[in-house]
Amino acid sequence: MEEKSKSLNFIEQIIDKDIVERIEKKRLRFRFPPEPNGYLHIGHVKAACLNFNLGQRYNAPVNLRFDDTNPQNEEIKYVQAIKKDLKWLGYDWDKECYASDYFEQLFQWALFLIDKDMAYVDSQSSDVIAQQKGTPTKQGILSPNRSRSREDNHRLFIEMSKGVHPEGAHVLRAKIDMSSPNMLMRDPIIYRVLNKPHHRTGTKWKVYPMYDWTHGESDYIEQISHSLCTLEFKPHRELYNWFLEAIPTKDIVPKQTEFARLNLSFTVTSKRKLKKLVDENYVSGWDDPRMPTISGLRRRGYTPESLKQFVKTAGIAKRENVIELSLLEFCLRDHLNKIAPRVNAVLNPIKLTIINYNKSEEWLEGEINPEKPDLGYRKIPFSKNLYIEREDFKEEASKKFFRLTIGKEVRLKNGYIIKGESFERDKNGNITEVFCTYDKDSKSGSGSEASKRKVKGTLHWVSQKHALKIRVNIYDRLFFDPSPDHHKEKDFLDFVNPNSLKVTTAYVEPCVSDAKPGQCFQFQRLGYFNVDKESKMLDLVFNKTVGLRDNWSK
Ligand code: ATP
Ligand code: MG
Repeated sequence: MEEKSKSLNFIEQIIDKDIVERIEKKRLRFRFPPEPNGYLHIGHVKAACLNFNLGQRYNAPVNLRFDDTNPQNEEIKYVQAIKKDLKWLGYDWDKECYASDYFEQLFQWALFLIDKDMAYVDSQSSDVIAQQKGTPTKQGILSPNRSRSREDNHRLFIEMSKGVHPEGAHVLRAKIDMSSPNMLMRDPIIYRVLNKPHHRTGTKWKVYPMYDWTHGESDYIEQISHSLCTLEFKPHRELYNWFLEAIPTKDIVPKQTEFARLNLSFTVTSKRKLKKLVDENYVSGWDDPRMPTISGLRRRGYTPESLKQFVKTAGIAKRENVIELSLLEFCLRDHLNKIAPRVNAVLNPIKLTIINYNKSEEWLEGEINPEKPDLGYRKIPFSKNLYIEREDFKEEASKKFFRLTIGKEVRLKNGYIIKGESFERDKNGNITEVFCTYDKDSKSGSGSEASKRKVKGTLHWVSQKHALKIRVNIYDRLFFDPSPDHHKEKDFLDFVNPNSLKVTTAYVEPCVSDAKPGQCFQFQRLGYFNVDKESKMLDLVFNKTVGLRDNWSK
């Protein structure tokens, strides 16, 4: 028991205690509550994992709730994208709920507050209301409308809801405490007039509820036992509880608990900011492979397993911290190593000709994935004319250079041992072709004495006449600053890396010819690459997902 509770996160510990003290296990219920004003990002993976894992652990339902109270920012396309991303992560929700489905109930409860003299219509401008709020150390000023009669409030609020009054003419405020040390308790606005159509309720409503009023009451309607939110909502908890006490409740009264948001270095995680990157064309869309959105990460080649492993490793904490981007990449590499088939590709080619090779071609064998020997072997075409990486040849090499040079031997992966003989240059002095000889008895896996000879380097290669030419997108970080949105003087957009995408061509062995978008490969010695959604049968496009090693730290 001791051991077990140690491995629980603090929220699980709270819930375990609640099961003993105040709530039946079968009445536990959780929710994941995105606002449909953008695509989900890596931070949401943490919140979704947290809630859905609790659902699994306690065998309790988890609702997907769209917190849709700002019609000017919300769209049905975001609802659809959010559902798609959660399904891709492997999560299934119990009910699909919308705060907008509760607009009528929320309206009725607002009238209830008015009739109990717990809410009033304020007809001052938002500026004046803000000025009267005071500061944490200076108490606020009571609005002259605070003493309006219940009857007048009731009538005015109904008129507001019907569009009798223009935007900004009135708001409905909870009547709480203008001297509270918690500024959020100083008669917060709970409704504003908004003459905007809503993606689900159309033009029915001319008033829309504010987040604080909506969230807790929605939790209550859905009978959510534990409402988990990020730390910035901690000061809102007093208000959350006030609103739940204000309405007539029986059944379960939800409890709010806060956890630390996920912050990732070199990344912004705010839908508003991500939307800016999209709207101002810094990226090609919400699913640009450089974006920290779930759809961007998916297109880049991230797997649900790697994202969940990342969130698990980062942990659920009570205090904010920044997680290194390299941890995310570590989790990705770790998973791709297990699942990605190996192939050879050459990104920066130079011709290699084997002068004593006289066959027209032959087919060699290479392991599909050494982590999974059961998968067996693939056939790799070999011939007299190959491509190797330009960086793998040097005419004069230092002692530490274990790749190809004149007079030295290296192995061609899954093939033969070769020896550098000579090379040619063009008139600009660039090397255009390297010539070598091969040891015909040294074929990998043939069992011969020559095949067992040890040489220092092994190079990847492709056969010129068999290789497919592909387009490759190579990405660098989208921001060149570790915390782009934490600069006082500067905007996060000032830190966008202008060189975050490089498009190049490469040659790859032919076994990938019918690879479909989303499929992932390890290009040996280069990294993991996946097929982009724009890829077509004869026009293959790959994204570099991540290198084999962490190169950033250097
Ligand atoms: P954004 O500022 O990106 O719009 P948000 O908090 O307004 O984020 P919501 O759609 O309201 O986004 O969030 C849905 C849920 O995901 C909430 O419970 C929220 O607390 C949580 N969440 C959002 N961002 C993060 C993050 N970076 N880390 C952990 N949880 C997050
Ligand atoms: Mg938000």
